[in-house]
Amino acid sequence: MRCDTCGNDYDKTFRVTGPRGEFVFDSFECAIQKLAPTCAHCGCRVIGHGVDAGETIYCCEHCSRAAAKSAAGHAGQGAARRARH
Ligand SMILES: [Zn+2]
Ligand SMILES: [Zn+2]
Repeated sequence: MRCDTCGNDYDKTFRVTGPRGEFVFDSFECAIQKLAPTCAHCGCRVIGHGVDAGETIYCCEHCSRAAAKSAAGHAGQGAARRARH
């Protein structure tokens, strides 16, 4: 099977079925790249449980609080400025 992220043809791929459909990956790294949401505040991949704030997902409680604070101050500038490199 071919990995849905990198296209690598590998005999030990695995399937992941989720809300966005079914995917085939050759590694967890590829699965994370394709499926893991990014934190709306710091931009890192949310691999753990994360914090769900309605439509928005944060990697941790700290980010959700920091984002709420900066949204109140200057309309979500923090998220754009601190996007991942
Ligand atoms: Zn891959
Ligand atoms: Zn974060």
